[in-house]
Amino acid sequence: MSLAQLFGCVRVVWNDALAICKQADKLPGYSKLSALLTQSKKNEDREWLKSVSSVPLQQSLRNLDVAYRNFFNSRNGKRKGGKIGSPNFKKKTNQQSAEFTKAAFLMKDGEVYLAKIGDLKPIWSRKLPSEPSSITVIKDCANRYFLSFVVEVQPIQIEAKNQSIGIDLGIKTFAVMSNGEKAQSPVYRMIDRKIRKLQKKLARQQKDSNRRNITRLRIAKLHNQIADIRKDFLHKLSTKTVSENQTIVLEDLNVSGMVENRKLSRAISQQGWREFRTLCEAKSQKFGRNFQVISRWEPTSQICSDCGFRWGKVDLSIRSILCLNCGVEQDRDENAAKNIELVGIGHCHDLKRAGSDSQTTSVASCCDPLRILTPSG
Ligand SMILES: [Zn+2]
Repeated sequence: MSLAQLFGCVRVVWNDALAICKQADKLPGYSKLSALLTQSKKNEDREWLKSVSSVPLQQSLRNLDVAYRNFFNSRNGKRKGGKIGSPNFKKKTNQQSAEFTKAAFLMKDGEVYLAKIGDLKPIWSRKLPSEPSSITVIKDCANRYFLSFVVEVQPIQIEAKNQSIGIDLGIKTFAVMSNGEKAQSPVYRMIDRKIRKLQKKLARQQKDSNRRNITRLRIAKLHNQIADIRKDFLHKLSTKTVSENQTIVLEDLNVSGMVENRKLSRAISQQGWREFRTLCEAKSQKFGRNFQVISRWEPTSQICSDCGFRWGKVDLSIRSILCLNCGVEQDRDENAAKNIELVGIGHCHDLKRAGSDSQTTSVASCCDPLRILTPSG
């Protein structure tokens, strides 16, 4: 039995069950779907499902059940986060996967045996920390095969070097830290250019032709390249940040609102702010750190982090700010990061000085870095 056939069976089981769910008045749960699957194997047109292990097929039904529950909980507000769509039919050209639970796999001497598939010799990216409870075989759009393991992990104990850190996430510089460190995001310009060129080519090619399929595959491979570079960058940055600091403070960004602005959407989705936040949160849990997200309505870019004086709104083009109240000149983003840290660890900004009598005047001179001046009175 080949993996391609296995993926085909998993896909058919999912699509059959989804079609039943879409027509049903009351959604059938996992056990009902599982009974229907057993029944369908007796039919001539689904007999071939018997030739693969029943475990990944049942797992596919469990996943469908979960997908529906998430969809309903997201609709009635029981589930936090963005809205989730209803489950979709699976296509042959999308990523394929099949999940094997404990009863259906065996691991020995670096080899993995899957029921009715046989032995696989994977290239290990790292050692497993413990026995896995399930294994998922994945084939991505670029025809690469992966094994993904579910394992239990013990929390890691590493003493943090620093008490806390605030992080300002931005478009130009990915992250500016309150300690002055900056993290530039990787540049994807070259790969991006190649993708756009190939996409034009794809649009001209005949549907279902062999050449078009080759182009599609090349585009998928380039997208994978970008994703790999980004993932690597975000993992390294989040690991460093979380392992070095006891409290990590981020600003809540309205990412979904921003992506609606089409000009920014490409840059933002590639920057992966949300991914970074998710990684920091998960790693904070792993390392026993405090992870804080402060409201995006905090005026973190309008206040001097040194003396607390409120300048008011500062134009985005102004990168360096001189506070005439205390005389300290700071990088705009670094100042914001310091304020994010302060709010995160519980300092309140003194808003009393923000009255109408302290109107801020911004003076832009052409040669010098732009400055903000406080009123003379
Ligand atoms: Zn100041």
